[in-house]
Amino acid sequence: MILYTLQDNGYIDFSEKIKMYPTEKFNMYVNITNRCNCNCTFCLRHLKEDHKLWLKDGEPSVEEIKQAFLNAPMDNVKEIVICGFGEPTIRLDDLIKVLKFIREKYPQMKVRMNTNGLSDLEFGKSTAPMFEGLLNTISISLNESTAQKYLDVTRSRFGIKSYNAMLEFASQCKKYIPNVVVTIVDIIGEAEIAACKKVCEQYGLNLRIRKYEKN
Ligand code: SF4
Repeated sequence: MILYTLQDNGYIDFSEKIKMYPTEKFNMYVNITNRCNCNCTFCLRHLKEDHKLWLKDGEPSVEEIKQAFLNAPMDNVKEIVICGFGEPTIRLDDLIKVLKFIREKYPQMKVRMNTNGLSDLEFGKSTAPMFEGLLNTISISLNESTAQKYLDVTRSRFGIKSYNAMLEFASQCKKYIPNVVVTIVDIIGEAEIAACKKVCEQYGLNLRIRKYEKN
């Protein structure tokens, strides 16, 4: 499923949902890859083929993604959310092509991307400037308050330097994207939440505390 939305605590093809609710608007989630450079302890990708969002036929091409948008009921979209089942920036060049297509075709559409914020490490360069003018919001997973705790949870393939690289990427994004938020989930405990707030103050980042969802 490339374009989907939420339904009964699960996922449904976006067009199928609109057949049920033709006059309403929903967030449209965009899934372009199963891959990721992390291996988070809580990641749904561990379910692989057993999960509805696993791209069983492999990654869709840029043309296939564009066609999926062209076939979709875009008048019913509240916000486009690039999230992927895996990490969307793993396909950075393809992702930028898709974002440019969205901006050109649907210029008024609000576009958000959820990311682990490790694209600088993945591609060995500063990647934040590539998103200039293409995103309204970027949501970056902060997860924890220290580099070691972050690594314990994400098991990033880049090791201990991942946390600082993610924070640096988030700081850079403020120059190019109007709304930059970093996120944690509410199950990490009060002390850890307070420590994350301090990190955000230090880096001048907005923190969003998300409710933990199992699926
Ligand atoms: S960063 Fe996201 S996609 Fe990657 S392993 Fe962690 S939860 Fe899964």
